[in-house]
Amino acid sequence: MPVTVTIPTPLRQFADGQSEIQIDARTAGEALDKLTSTHTELRRHLFNDQNALRNFVNVYVNDEDIRHANGPDTPVNEGDTILIVPSIAGGAAVLDEIAGKDAGGPQAGMPALPMLSNEEVARYSRHLIMPEVGMTGQRKLKAASVLMIGTGGLGAPLGMYLAAAGVGRLGLVDFDVVDASNLQRQIIHGTKDVGRPKIASARDRIEDINPHVEIETHDTKLTSANALNLFVNYDVIVDGTDNFPTRYLVNDACVLTGKPNVYGSIFRFEGQASVFWAERGPCYRCLYPEPPPPGLVPSCAEGGVLGVLPGIIGTIQATETIKIILGAPDIMVNRLLLFDAWRMRFRELKLRKNPDCPVCGVNPTIKELIDYEEFCGITQQPETKPTMEEITATELKQRLDQGDDIQIIDVREPHEYEIGAIPNSKLIPLGQVLNRMNEIDPGRETVMHCKMGGRSAKAIEALQRAGFPGHLINLKGGITAWSNEVDPSVPKY
Ligand code: ZN
Repeated sequence: MPVTVTIPTPLRQFADGQSEIQIDARTAGEALDKLTSTHTELRRHLFNDQNALRNFVNVYVNDEDIRHANGPDTPVNEGDTILIVPSIAGGAAVLDEIAGKDAGGPQAGMPALPMLSNEEVARYSRHLIMPEVGMTGQRKLKAASVLMIGTGGLGAPLGMYLAAAGVGRLGLVDFDVVDASNLQRQIIHGTKDVGRPKIASARDRIEDINPHVEIETHDTKLTSANALNLFVNYDVIVDGTDNFPTRYLVNDACVLTGKPNVYGSIFRFEGQASVFWAERGPCYRCLYPEPPPPGLVPSCAEGGVLGVLPGIIGTIQATETIKIILGAPDIMVNRLLLFDAWRMRFRELKLRKNPDCPVCGVNPTIKELIDYEEFCGITQQPETKPTMEEITATELKQRLDQGDDIQIIDVREPHEYEIGAIPNSKLIPLGQVLNRMNEIDPGRETVMHCKMGGRSAKAIEALQRAGFPGHLINLKGGITAWSNEVDPSVPKY
């Protein structure tokens, strides 16, 4: 039976760049076997040593997770689509309380919804004349509070639309500063804001959009120590983060406080969105019990992101947030929305609660917040760091000028090389380093570099593990440091 297997963006480099592959198979397992026997690199990413699918990879036949069917034995029919969906980094009772508030006045001990001023009535008139919102809905919005984790790509449209819609109280959590490279997508910040704290810039913009919104800024990193105390003060939590430790932290804190977690994530031109709400459906851990190992799925800073994509996903998150507050009947619980901007396709997958989920299952093992950096495998490794030899850009330039024989290997991607390169450097992208090891002369001293130094360090580690005999040195700070210290004509990106 010819079926189509879709390859997600982060894994396409291991499938010759293909996004869809036609395979003849009778079951999902057979299709994956055939796929990974022709693309062996892919096998390592999809399966563990026990030949089982890795925990951060889910496989669907059409819209059904094979874990809820017959697993790898799930039959496939002609024309079916098998989707490989990995987790990518970069949704209570309180709402029942809002829903229970009465438009007319206090009832059964419930405080009344706040009244709208004439100014507010004029401002929200396009909502008020919709029966789905109306006066009661608009007053629910005014009574509601939303905590936004992050004021970056997803947080930008979220903050602006939630404020414009009249959400009464908005909490902003961020500790980052606006950088020029943010402006391609984080439209809540402007050119004049470069160098300012994001929450200050976001607050100014939101106040300008709607002065009726109460804004609470939390200039801090969200941690296991502060998350629960922050979350209990809000009705809905919106996850606009870009890293796995914070994503799992947001999920677990939402489950423990009973809050809906409005989820969105983006990578290059693909996005995901859902509402995780343990009381009504699955949580993020039901979907992805474990994060991918560090480095497998690149961050937006490494992998890039189409500027408009967070606008679309963040706007979907804003829509779901507003619907939760209004008590809309069909929120995105039990569903995962996949969006591919490059092919302009939306897909929807069914989600189910995992009864064995460690945080929202029948017998949870996670009853308080844990160390999420450790959980995601992000640990400082002081014992391995000093073994990697480093050179600064200034030292490298001095040594080249004095005629030292050094080969420079650039492990970035070809489109990054096009932006700017160090003279006489050879391009071997990180994903090809091991296969093209024979192109690196082990008899010459070798400096490896990337954009900032992270990927070249991985390349050196991989080469050393593979037994490469040459002398490998990492360029500290990558080509960015070269631009800063040696040649400012090399553009920074
Ligand atoms: Zn769960």
